[in-house]
Amino acid sequence: MPEQWTVCPAEAMKADGLRVAELDTSGTPGFTGGKKAGVALLAERSKVLSDLQEKLYANGRSGDRRSVLLVLQGMDTAGKGGIVRHVIGSVDPQGVDHAAFGVPTQEEQRHHYLWRIREALPRAGQLGVFDRSHYEDVLVVRVHNLVPPTVWEPRYDEINAFERELVDEGITLVKVAMFVSLDEQKRRLAERLERADKFWKFNPADIDERAYWPAYQEAYQAMLDRTSTEYAPWHVVPADRKWFSRLAVTELLIAALERLELDWPLPTFDVEQQKRRLAQA
Ligand code: AMP
Ligand code: MG
Repeated sequence: MPEQWTVCPAEAMKADGLRVAELDTSGTPGFTGGKKAGVALLAERSKVLSDLQEKLYANGRSGDRRSVLLVLQGMDTAGKGGIVRHVIGSVDPQGVDHAAFGVPTQEEQRHHYLWRIREALPRAGQLGVFDRSHYEDVLVVRVHNLVPPTVWEPRYDEINAFERELVDEGITLVKVAMFVSLDEQKRRLAERLERADKFWKFNPADIDERAYWPAYQEAYQAMLDRTSTEYAPWHVVPADRKWFSRLAVTELLIAALERLELDWPLPTFDVEQQKRRLAQA
């Protein structure tokens, strides 16, 4: 772990006991450097992430069933898309299974809410990334009463059981909740209305959602309190500073991949013999 981290990122950003309403969204927990150091470190650490991902992929090709799944949650403008572009974008796209979850389609609505999630799980050796996830079914669904409490309430336990199953199948879950302040969200939405290259990200409904901020904070709090488990813990990433959230997620992924203790797969052939054959070919 680089020395600018005084506390390891997983520890510094663990959700246990955290109060969402009191979070400093402009903070850089565990990291002592500023933006310049953070950006420089991110470039360096992206290479480490990329090497580890390649090892995961190589092992997947050699029969290892394991995979890693980054689950991203956060309000609009929190920077989930930026994580996908800048963090996941630094690794080999062949090894990435990406899925984004929006309002369920008609087909999805006919199924259990976990159906579309199961369909999108990373294959062996892949780095999966979920831009939103099954957690929408206890967030937006809860906030807007899309189903009654008797339906969403049991979902916390159901999600815990589901994730237990995933972990047992060899999927390492890296759950990241990104938080911006209400003011920072306003700045970012304003930017989407100022720049031609950002209009496509703007959704008029995002402005309406701002009125539900306290209800979302409550729903996020319940999510963290009830679904941060020892086998699939939540990490809370302050996201007002994009350089920090990107660095933080990079480090969380590196730590998860390092825990897999991956080595390069051994050859299934005699290397010396193949060298001799090649010399004569
Ligand atoms: P975006 O991520 O900006 O493309 O927006 C996707 C939208 O889909 C967000 O407003 C989510 O709240 C919404 N969404 C995602 N999952 C669900 C769900 N299960 N039920 C209702 N809305 C959802
Ligand atoms: Mg959006």
